[in-house]
Amino acid sequence: MTASPADDFSVRLAAASRQEQFLAVVSRDEAMARWLGAVPHAPLPAETVPLAEALGRVLAADIASPIDVPPFDRALVDGFAVRAADTEGASEAAPCRLLLNREILACGVAPALTVGPGTATPIATGGVLPRGADAVVMVEATEFEDGPAPAIALAQAAGPGRFVGYAGADMARGETVLRRGVLVTAREIGMLAACGLAAVPVVRRPRVAVLSTGDELVGPGSPLGPAQLYDSNGAIVAASVTENGGVALPGGIVPDDEAALEAALAQALASADLVVLSGGTSKGAGDVSHRILSRLGEPGILVHGVALKPGKPLCLALAGTVPVVVLPGFPTSAMFTFHEFVVPLIRALAGLPAREEETVAAHLPQRLPSELGRTEYVMAALSRGADGLVALPLAKGSGAVTAFSQADGFFAVPASRPGLEAGETVAVSRIGRAARSPDLTIVGSHCLGLDRLVGHLAGRGVSARTLWVGSAGGLGALRRGECDLAAMHLLDPETGRYNAPYLTEGLALAPGWRRLQGVVFRAGDPRFAEAPAEAAVTRLLADDDAVMVNRNTGAGTRALVEGLLNGARPAGYWNQPRSHNAVAAAVAQGRADWGVAIAPVARDYGLGFLPLTEEHYDFAYRAARRDEPALAAFLALLDDPALAADLAGLSFTRSDA
Ligand code: AMP
Ligand code: MG
Repeated sequence: MTASPADDFSVRLAAASRQEQFLAVVSRDEAMARWLGAVPHAPLPAETVPLAEALGRVLAADIASPIDVPPFDRALVDGFAVRAADTEGASEAAPCRLLLNREILACGVAPALTVGPGTATPIATGGVLPRGADAVVMVEATEFEDGPAPAIALAQAAGPGRFVGYAGADMARGETVLRRGVLVTAREIGMLAACGLAAVPVVRRPRVAVLSTGDELVGPGSPLGPAQLYDSNGAIVAASVTENGGVALPGGIVPDDEAALEAALAQALASADLVVLSGGTSKGAGDVSHRILSRLGEPGILVHGVALKPGKPLCLALAGTVPVVVLPGFPTSAMFTFHEFVVPLIRALAGLPAREEETVAAHLPQRLPSELGRTEYVMAALSRGADGLVALPLAKGSGAVTAFSQADGFFAVPASRPGLEAGETVAVSRIGRAARSPDLTIVGSHCLGLDRLVGHLAGRGVSARTLWVGSAGGLGALRRGECDLAAMHLLDPETGRYNAPYLTEGLALAPGWRRLQGVVFRAGDPRFAEAPAEAAVTRLLADDDAVMVNRNTGAGTRALVEGLLNGARPAGYWNQPRSHNAVAAAVAQGRADWGVAIAPVARDYGLGFLPLTEEHYDFAYRAARRDEPALAAFLALLDDPALAADLAGLSFTRSDA
């Protein structure tokens, strides 16, 4: 019997709405204690690798030198091997004369003759000190006397041991020269080679199987279908595994299908020291990871649900001896929990020391609300404020890739606090390498033109960080002293002027460029034929089937939209995305019929465009700081013809000062 589509739908609907048991949420500390208690955080056994492959590995044992380095006493300069006693009392007035022995001790020559009293043997730097000699004199300190019995005259005494490097002075036979746990870099390779070691014992690298689960996922490089998105967790997890001393075994994308996932997991468990999955860990429709984990066998699931934000649905398990981690699907949650729970394990298995955590104090520019009962970790960018560092929360949420990837660090809001107050000091744990803080921080509204400008700035040696929080947000940040420039396009409805009316005391405006804003719609939509934008919109406001897409409060574009609507609230009004691109995507995908966006974005999405107005995209800054080098470079760049050409390519027109 085959189920009719309706039956199938009912079954799926019932499954989707079934309330499975909630996650048994535990505190972060409890989760960590269970994880550390069940999973040994110790180096894997050793393996021996050829010297050339030891780079980046961790020594599994102390290394003692099997030989003396250097293996013999040798000359440290070009000159003559002598008996120090012969040279005693030599001076300009009474040079000492030594007959030359008939051999030359170049490097690699084993001496045959003894240096007897009153003689010397020519020797090169690195040559073996011959029997009888106990010092070397520099060739520059001697006069050569040719003849049937060649000799040298020496005007200076040489003490015993002068210019002699003794056997074992560098590394003595049996001396421990490198300790276990040391990370092998080029320098260690040099020491190992000097000892003659062609192979070294290193800690075996943990093999980490990486799987991404989700019906919606597509690998980078493949075209993106409707309702699909690229698998970023797989790539970032694999790269982080490598960065932390493991070997990633990429397992690709597995659909939300129990049988498929079970098979993929079985294969991963058979080949890996640790398995990391992402996605499907909640208990919603299509989330199957947890069901499979519950069948892993002993000890099975250790933790499913941590009072942690981001990252609540994290699942930690142990299948026999192989740890299994299911990261939440949302990229920032996935990376944060990976960073906290998985990186320490990979490093321990690889024999690497724990990551160095640098913590810096910074203060909060604004009040930050937070959920009681859950430790919240907030990704933040660090910026130099008027009095010390400022932690600017990256408010994109745990679904964003950029929140983790662009953060300078994160700080915790304790579970017991409903929020932090403006001005409070927080301890920011830096992530990744402590990057040099940028020369300029630019906060405000996003514009492709600004991306180009920042590229030109980098070419002039000035680094800039950009944070997109909208025009009004940028202006607020500038007023609070959290950034150097606010990128803005705010129309003042009273005066009809852009930006300048919003400047407060001490702020100046650098004219940027103009961007053509217009109504966007799907090309060929007859409702927009042969009409100016305003007329088309008026007509659409009377059409019950028409759906609009709005913009967020504080966006410069929002003011334009409100002007068009003239108080109306048509369908779609509450859909208020934060960017031109989101507006264009909604229209292009048929989720809305019209919205307002800038011309180049309309062009990129193949949309129809009815011009509304040219808006001014300018930069506000503190007038008193205009001569500071980075800011001065930025302001000068605005007049660069190369930038104007780039802007023209984006259909932006440079504004006149
Ligand atoms: P899930 O944990 O499976 O419920 O997924 C939560 C969210 O994360 C959904 O929006 C997924 O589309 C997204 N997501 C899951 N896995 C990935 C991945 N590998 N790369 C990017 N996004 C993902
Ligand atoms: Mg999923």
